[in-house]
Amino acid sequence: MAGQVKTEAVVLRSMRYGEADRILHLYTPNRGRVSAIAKGVRRARSRFGGRLEPFFRLRIELHEGRGELLTVTGAQTVDGHARLRGDARALDAAARACDAVGRLFETAEPHPGVFNLLCRKLSLLDEQPAEATRAAALAFRLKLLLAAGLAPQLGGCATCGEREHLVGFSGAAGGVVCGACEAASFPLAPDAYNFMTEALGRPLADAPAAGDAALGQVERAISVTLEHHAHLRLMPALGRSV
Ligand SMILES: [Zn+2]
Repeated sequence: MAGQVKTEAVVLRSMRYGEADRILHLYTPNRGRVSAIAKGVRRARSRFGGRLEPFFRLRIELHEGRGELLTVTGAQTVDGHARLRGDARALDAAARACDAVGRLFETAEPHPGVFNLLCRKLSLLDEQPAEATRAAALAFRLKLLLAAGLAPQLGGCATCGEREHLVGFSGAAGGVVCGACEAASFPLAPDAYNFMTEALGRPLADAPAAGDAALGQVERAISVTLEHHAHLRLMPALGRSV
């Protein structure tokens, strides 16, 4: 199935390879995550310039041979997100967003909605680097869970269906649980519950706010959901050092 592939892509990761090459992890709308080699890219006069770096949104041309690794033959910048690059917190948030996408959606299965969500997230970080908050990072992760078919059940007890007295969150049950079913759960405060329902229902740019304790519970709910249902652990939503 050799041939030329033209697609938009976001560079998730860029790793040095050999003398002058780079291996890229790309996220594309219709081919999911793609690995590609860019030859000679680290030479000073490379025709790719500096645009094969993480967080670049590109229009890219790839040659597909028989192996899994495609070869980059052309790349144009759609958005380099220059402002994001000048802010340590935004840069860290972008890295965590790309890491989460790369791990949750690591196959060639197409998820154009995830590509659009990632582009939106990078644009928001670029427009307002100071908005690289934990709440924004968690709202993004909740939307990724939804796209992966792993959205926690929030409408009623995930075990028995009870709609009131929802006091805990259970990764095993896959959502909120009531007082009678709370055995394997941890407590979930009303503001953490509200954050999750609002974050899932609102646009990314309009992510709700919540206190640290509530956000801690939300992050734990996302973590146990991923551990139980995707056997996956993500980096913390926000770096401690930035
Ligand atoms: Zn119950």
